[in-house]
Amino acid sequence: RFITFEGIDGSGKSTQARLLAEALRAQGRDVVLTREPGGSPGAEEIRRLVLEGDPDRWSAETEILLFTAARRDHLERTINPALTAGQVVVCDRFADSTRMYQGLSRGDLRALVDQLHDLMIGRDPDLTILIDMDPDLGLSRAKGRQGHEERFEDFGLELQLRMREGFLALAAEFPHRFRVIDGARPIETVAADVLSLVEPALP
Ligand code: C5P
Repeated sequence: RFITFEGIDGSGKSTQARLLAEALRAQGRDVVLTREPGGSPGAEEIRRLVLEGDPDRWSAETEILLFTAARRDHLERTINPALTAGQVVVCDRFADSTRMYQGLSRGDLRALVDQLHDLMIGRDPDLTILIDMDPDLGLSRAKGRQGHEERFEDFGLELQLRMREGFLALAAEFPHRFRVIDGARPIETVAADVLSLVEPALP
């Protein structure tokens, strides 16, 4: 089974992905915890390229190609082998993040993101947990965190608001695989909710 976490910066999705992986391992399941951009050596190299340096040195279209290239490598090297081996894959961000961040942040490029996805990725998660969060709260949480990458500052609050609305619209667009969870509650409460949503989806 392939489970992804989505949400705006500071929503707590990385923490929730880790807690879910730990809870499933405690049940004796074989879990691969991974993330995007990144998740394989080649994709982590692309992550450094896209998250550091001047984001405007590439066009929006080129950036979409880089994110898609990273995802393709992640899929080939990490996700597909794990799924074939019967492992549960828990991934912090996946194609829905590209539909939002690259698809919406520099113009309306959602159709291009979807076309490249169909052409080069072609796999969707079995279950996507959207950790929904007010961007004001997400921003203060993200700023309190050490060592987070700096793109957030560039994006700013207004874009995070659009991203939140966009993620909720995506959840409505793909209701068969999306579940929305209120991330403003205590971490343990959210984690318990996540586990109760995931368990019935596992063999
Ligand atoms: O999820 P994480 O905090 O590791 O993401 C790192 C940064 O990359 C975030 O600020 C996020 O907004 C950005 N990002 C992006 N496009 C993606 C995925 C993440 O711009 N497809």
